[in-house]
Amino acid sequence: MVVVGAGPAGSAFALLLARAGVAVELVESQPRHSALIRGDGLMPSGLEALNRMGLASLLATLPRRELRGWSFLLEGRSLFSVAEPFGGSVPCSLIDTPGLLEGMLAEALACPNLTLRRGRAVKELLLKPEDTLPGSEGPARVAGVVLDDGTKLPAELVVGCDGRGSTIRRLAALELNEDNPPLEVLWFELENEAAAHLQPWIAGRFATLIGDAGSYALFGTARGGVRLGWLQERGAAGSPVPWPERWARSAPPELAALWRSLPTTSVGPPLRLSLRSGLAPRWERPGLLLLGDAAHPMSPLRAQGLNMALRDALVAAERLLPLLSTGGGAGGDEASCGDECGDAIAIGAGRMAAGPAAEEPPRRREFQEQLDQALVAIAEARLVEIRAVQALQRQELGRGELLRRQAWLRRLLAATANVSGPLLSRRWQAGQPTLRTGLPLPEGPA
Ligand SMILES: Cc1cc2nc3c(=O)[nH]c(=O)nc-3n(C[C@H](O)[C@H](O)[C@H](O)COP(=O)(O)OP(=O)(O)OC[C@H]3O[C@@H](n4cnc5c(N)ncnc54)[C@H](O)[C@@H]3O)c2cc1C
Repeated sequence: MVVVGAGPAGSAFALLLARAGVAVELVESQPRHSALIRGDGLMPSGLEALNRMGLASLLATLPRRELRGWSFLLEGRSLFSVAEPFGGSVPCSLIDTPGLLEGMLAEALACPNLTLRRGRAVKELLLKPEDTLPGSEGPARVAGVVLDDGTKLPAELVVGCDGRGSTIRRLAALELNEDNPPLEVLWFELENEAAAHLQPWIAGRFATLIGDAGSYALFGTARGGVRLGWLQERGAAGSPVPWPERWARSAPPELAALWRSLPTTSVGPPLRLSLRSGLAPRWERPGLLLLGDAAHPMSPLRAQGLNMALRDALVAAERLLPLLSTGGGAGGDEASCGDECGDAIAIGAGRMAAGPAAEEPPRRREFQEQLDQALVAIAEARLVEIRAVQALQRQELGRGELLRRQAWLRRLLAATANVSGPLLSRRWQAGQPTLRTGLPLPEGPA
């Protein structure tokens, strides 16, 4: 098996398979995790997945900050606040995502049947034209990948966890329906003294501020820093006004004063992220599956992508393992795995010819058909939740955009906050259950 991408989806999926003894080649193009910003908001939905993966003890070793609440401010006035946790007993929290990924990889690498190829990108798919299943359309059966150094990794199954710009999705000609609002988020990291300066005002909350300076979110990270995401029209003209002064214009007096006393040099250049999201109606081809952002690029709104990626990995592993553990005609040697990895499973990279194949035994064909059916079932099981979550994200973005664009509405709501605040709070909370806990996961193995 080849897993492409060691983000949340790929690391979690590779770990679950490696632990069960499946031979896994995990390919990651980046040399280090910290080179990428990923989401650090862990919702109860992501926590449920991590618990079911048996990773609660790993999580307990990492820096983590439980959120105290959500605050919404319009024109510098408080509209409403909601304390955490609400609608259940588990609070949303901020975690050290690079630490989580490294911890998952360390555990996976303890299984001798997992190989991590870091700093190598997948460039091509290996195909086996004569294996195209009756009735299947598009490219032939996927039989492995080719790396950027020309190395071929043959495999029974390729799992593309390579993120929003997925090369695997493109190579497999899987369509992506995109939602591409003309917006981007500028992500700022404030650390050390700048973060310490702001923490007392933030007080463990996730604050959203909308006013004349636009809309931004402000929260403390697990490691004691502060992150600010500022929503902008894509390609908006720059301004000579320093960032903190611009943020002060949407802030209440106490925060505005903090912004104005912050040295401008303490704010580094932002990372720009388009608010593009999308959904591939089909996540699989014979011998290939997409998971995480590769299948459904998530908008960063209300911290869903990390959580959905973990849930994809869990559901995919739970559906595939019973099939893989039959050894189902995959042929080849058994992987040797330590006690902690369970029984070996005869499937994986290097065990099957990548070029035109000799006639294969009916048992292998039958196994491949069962595998492909399982891939379809995984996508069907996950699409329902992803559609629901993305619809709620769009709804929330739409409401935020209305307020960002309509100064008269902001002023009206801010002026009547004692009446409008509780009404809007109830409406906001009504949309949150699915964004917090997701939809019920399918039952796991007994
Ligand atoms: C700034 C920002 C803030 C966010 N905030 C949150 C949040 O608070 N909470 C939340 O839940 N979500 C958040 N998200 C979304 C979240 O980060 C993603 O949804 C999540 O990382 C998706 O996980 P993934 O494993 O599918 O993909 P990714 O995390 O994108 O991982 C894909 C991996 O594949 C590798 N790769 C790509 N191409 C190749 C190739 N050809 N060969 C080999 N490797 C390859 C990449 O290097 C990468 O490591 C945020 C996203 C951003 C950018």
